Amino acid sequence: MQKLVLVGGGHSHAIALRQFGLHPVPDVEITLISEAENTPYSGLLPGHVAGFYSYEECHIDLRSLCEFAKAELRIDRAIGLDLARHQVLCEAGEVEFDLVSLDIGSTPMMPAGAAGIGAKPIAQFLKWWNQFDGKSVAIVGGGTGGVELALNMQAKMPELKIHLFQRDRELLPSHNPWVRQQFQKILTQRGIQLHVGQAVERATDCDATVWVTHASATPWVKQSGLAVDAQGFVLVNEFLQSVSHPEVFAAGDIATMMHYDRPKAGVFAVRQGKPLFHNLRAKLENRVLKPYRPQKRYLSLIGTGDKVAVASYGGFGWRAPWVWWVKDFIDRSFMNQFKRMI
Ligand SMILES: Cc1cc2nc3c(=O)[nH]c(=O)nc-3n(C[C@H](O)[C@H](O)[C@H](O)COP(=O)(O)OP(=O)(O)OC[C@H]3O[C@@H](n4cnc5c(N)ncnc54)[C@H](O)[C@@H]3O)c2cc1C
Repeated sequence: MQKLVLVGGGHSHAIALRQFGLHPVPDVEITLISEAENTPYSGLLPGHVAGFYSYEECHIDLRSLCEFAKAELRIDRAIGLDLARHQVLCEAGEVEFDLVSLDIGSTPMMPAGAAGIGAKPIAQFLKWWNQFDGKSVAIVGGGTGGVELALNMQAKMPELKIHLFQRDRELLPSHNPWVRQQFQKILTQRGIQLHVGQAVERATDCDATVWVTHASATPWVKQSGLAVDAQGFVLVNEFLQSVSHPEVFAAGDIATMMHYDRPKAGVFAVRQGKPLFHNLRAKLENRVLKPYRPQKRYLSLIGTGDKVAVASYGGFGWRAPWVWWVKDFIDRSFMNQFKRMI
């Protein structure tokens, strides 16, 4: 019996587990190590902050998913990897593996000693948001996550005074000029105070500070001795396999694919789910692995907090209620695949 251990119930592992349920692999014992029984789906998260979707609608039930995949769910937090002993080190003890896969996501980069809350881990952020009754908030980070969060927080609390800080000279630097202009206009019209070209190092005068800055990796990944990129993310090849340790795979935000410079976004974590499953199974069965090439261009659908969304694709952009309907349909369909199997 071989032991496959999946660390973190992120998007890629959720899809891989569903595939293991649909296509069981004999003589393999699967364990999922997850901090929580539910894992959030990033596409619906801003809409949940606005109050458009319930908690259940935007979370995947990992216990049911593990039952379907005949996997054991271990509620625990991984704190390290002992690669020589083939063990995942967890708060409650060690877990042995023959093959291990990491999909633990990332957290926003925060300067040492900075006050405030990160938008991730999402469970922590939502707990804070559900109790927050302040009058003003500073959002640090003017990328897609920060802008979408600002508009959706305002949708839930229209009286909230929001300041959005962006270190770069422009908001949404990864999108085309039309999309950037649209958001500049929407945010200004809605009275969100923009502080573009301004970095926040520690605290602001607001009642709370929310960090939605660049993704950072947990330090134990690098400390374990795995090959990592300059930011500490696991370096993987086109098979989603560690370039230094063939018994380790990684997907989603925690992985950086060699030769493919792609943003840390849920859309890539989702796309990697099936190739990850394929290659984990191939490795367990001693078969040839299949390369995966992430697409260069991808469609972003960004909600504006009023059941309207902006679509951004390469140099093109649209803003309309029908874009929201398409986004809603895609996101609900993604979640439905995990409900149908129960
Ligand atoms: C506000 C906001 C809005 C966003 N909106 C979008 C969007 O609309 N579209 C998009 O493409 N991307 C969006 N993103 C980015 C997106 O959230 C991430 O790229 C995506 O979640 C990455 O998926 P993942 O599978 O790598 O990990 P995650 O979805 O982060 O999942 C990681 C899982 O691992 C668990 N975990 C973490 N550490 C451990 C540990 N040590 N031990 C055990 N379990 C652990 C976590 O609890 C979690 O369940 C948004 C991000 C933010 C902050």
